[in-house]
Amino acid sequence: MNHRSKEKTLVLIKPDGVQRALIGEIIRRYERTGLKLVGLKFVIPTVEMVEKHYLIDDGWLESVGKKTKASYEKKGQKAPFDDPVEGGKWVLEKLKKFLSAGPVVAMVWQGNEAVGIVRKITGGTEPLSSDVGTIRGDLTLDSYPLADTDNRAVRNLIHASGNSEEAEKEIKIWFKENEIIKYRLVQETILYDVNLDSIKE
Ligand code: ATP
Ligand code: MG
Repeated sequence: MNHRSKEKTLVLIKPDGVQRALIGEIIRRYERTGLKLVGLKFVIPTVEMVEKHYLIDDGWLESVGKKTKASYEKKGQKAPFDDPVEGGKWVLEKLKKFLSAGPVVAMVWQGNEAVGIVRKITGGTEPLSSDVGTIRGDLTLDSYPLADTDNRAVRNLIHASGNSEEAEKEIKIWFKENEIIKYRLVQETILYDVNLDSIKE
């Protein structure tokens, strides 16, 4: 098994993040945690890539449908679908349009608990209710009701993998093996080195 400090996660800065000129700010927030950037590219995704990306995670359709249903019920409303999988398909159609609308930044971040650290900093799906201090909570303003009224995806700046198995599969969609850069980052010594015997002169 790989050392824990080698966990990887996929992050996409969605078209709204690029258009809002937030690329630098978003990278800065991940970078200063101590996570290491091991892959980076700028691409306009095709509809097929977006579809592949979301469908690679078994159960994603159902889970996104369930989350959407719960958000309606919380407001005392009925979701426009019964079956969560149908709800997931409904969301996927909107995501295909959103993510293929312009360039996105695709990144792979590596480090201890990379998936969890990135999701914590990114914040919850809906910017209206995501925590203050998170990227989605601080830097944008969309909500489920507005997205629903206009029949579009929630614009929340980021995609981040949900768990490390998902991350491994997602990374393969966006990066070839030789595009993941293997290198030593000086700060890893103070983050992970056990003996710290290479600091003092
Ligand atoms: P991501 O996977 O992008 O990190 P997430 O894990 O917080 O976000 P998911 O449930 O996987 O959220 O949904 C994927 C994306 O689909 C969301 O980030 C959002 O852009 C969009 N989305 C989710 N639910 C809805 C909805 N009910 N209406 C419109 N768009 C939605
Ligand atoms: Mg997700």
